[in-house]
Amino acid sequence: MISKEIIDEIVMRNDIGNLIGSYVSLKRAGANLKGLCPFHSEKTPSFTVYPADNSFYCFGCGIGGDPITFIKKMEHLDYPDAVEFLAKRAGITIPDSQNQQYNSGPKIDKKRIYEMNVVAAKYFNANLFSNDPKAREALAYFTEKRGLSLSTIKHFGLGFASDSFDAFSKYMRARGYTYEELVAGFLCGKSEKGHYYDAFRNRVMFPIIDVSGNVIAFGGRVMDDSKPKYKNSSDTPVFKKSRNLFALNFAKNFAEDALILCEGYMDVIALHAAGFSNAIATLGTAITSEQARILSRYTGRIIISYDADEAGQKAAKRAMQLLGEVGLEVSVLKIPDAKDPDEYIKKHGRDNFAHLLKNTKSKFEYNVEGILGKYNVDLPQDKINAVADIVNLISEVYSSAERDIYISTIAQRLSVDAKSIKNDVDRLVARKTRTGRKNEEKRIKEATAGFSDRINPDFVKAPAIAKNEENVLGLLLLYPDKRKLAFRDKLLTSDDFFTEFNKRVFSFIEESYNAGDDSLERINEFFTPEETGRIIRMKLNRMALSATDDAVLYDGIDTLKKSIEKKEASKTNTFEVLDAILKRKRDG
Ligand SMILES: [Zn+2]
Repeated sequence: MISKEIIDEIVMRNDIGNLIGSYVSLKRAGANLKGLCPFHSEKTPSFTVYPADNSFYCFGCGIGGDPITFIKKMEHLDYPDAVEFLAKRAGITIPDSQNQQYNSGPKIDKKRIYEMNVVAAKYFNANLFSNDPKAREALAYFTEKRGLSLSTIKHFGLGFASDSFDAFSKYMRARGYTYEELVAGFLCGKSEKGHYYDAFRNRVMFPIIDVSGNVIAFGGRVMDDSKPKYKNSSDTPVFKKSRNLFALNFAKNFAEDALILCEGYMDVIALHAAGFSNAIATLGTAITSEQARILSRYTGRIIISYDADEAGQKAAKRAMQLLGEVGLEVSVLKIPDAKDPDEYIKKHGRDNFAHLLKNTKSKFEYNVEGILGKYNVDLPQDKINAVADIVNLISEVYSSAERDIYISTIAQRLSVDAKSIKNDVDRLVARKTRTGRKNEEKRIKEATAGFSDRINPDFVKAPAIAKNEENVLGLLLLYPDKRKLAFRDKLLTSDDFFTEFNKRVFSFIEESYNAGDDSLERINEFFTPEETGRIIRMKLNRMALSATDDAVLYDGIDTLKKSIEKKEASKTNTFEVLDAILKRKRDG
């Protein structure tokens, strides 16, 4: 368990405005900051950051909390990983003994897995140069078939996994690593009969390294056409596929102008070898919005270089959308006369490739090409349809200045009057804005309505009681000195709460009080971001009321107890009546 002091320090050292500001563009609004919520889709900001008490709350979707809550939700981390993430960000080291029990298995230590991965990477690399005939084949695959130099092999730490079920695990076990650790790190598998076997066999190996330089996983590729072509580590305690990218550890230092997003490891390596050190790839899956967000930290522009085949182009479209959503400028590289960058560079040289990079098509141009490819614009009806499709495309562009640029380009290209295109676009934009706003209102309404039920389902059963509970909880949450009054004198206990959620909140405050934790730092350990959002809202509602002297607390508790008594009374009555009816029935 990480001590309260360290969590305190981690939360303190991660200024909430600064932290959230690195994900969301925030504008000052009085003492607070406001921006568009990253957790639900909205056009007017309802996401508010309160620097004074290091918290945030979204009035649209109800998510709120402190820096740990934000990172939990934003980076899709569980509580211990979010704490570690923020510790790293603030340059705080969590003592190992405190960290250990948070790792997934009982005996699995993340540090051990990192070390084990380095040992494994070195083993695979050395194995590539061994006398095993299959290893010689592997080396030839890299050097002859793919034309890689020995220095490139060394730079990426490439290797070879032998065609054996236990050569690798025998070696690792001799080095002191247990089967549990090897399985946890996805280096060994376990059969249904309980036999352990090497996870990677007869494959050339690509170590996957995170931006901090840790070996976190491996990818293995077959050398012939057998399937599956690539095998990648599954998620492990030190690796999440959806959050990492191949070669970003190198590319991040060359990302200023742009990053080149490739399909496979070999594309990336070929590009780096040719001097394009800003190439990266996802890890055997389509790009995720998490990866898009990560990339936006390193660059403002992505050049997508996917295969020219249908699957590649479909993936490119999807990537374009995801990358565009996080504000990245996206363009697509079209490689003429070669199936991938590697082949193109071998045929035409690196200078020509650099020239291709300079002439990539913007998302808009790319989509226009797609539309024009569908029609024969020499035929009047086709031309009308093409213009209609392009008008629709332009109407999706947010900036009106940008729209005007596209309108004049298209007008010129298709010899159509720019004014008439503009009229069509304007009409469509107006219509989309209207329906867009309506849809958004509806979405927020639904989200907030569903939300209140999900967090505290008992609320609807007794709204008056629940409100009174929240009033008292708001006071206890806001004013630590009131907790002393309530708990020391046992003014109320968890039995005084009718709704389960509020009872949990009360017990949490009480337990924190008994543990001497005034700042309620452990909140993210016990509550989800949606739940901490509700707790923040109780604070905000309470903050809107001014009186804070002790009488307010006494009064709040009194009102709560009375409302519960009333409920109890009516419940008893109902049962008594029922009882009486049943009795009468029995007696005939
Ligand atoms: Zn929201």
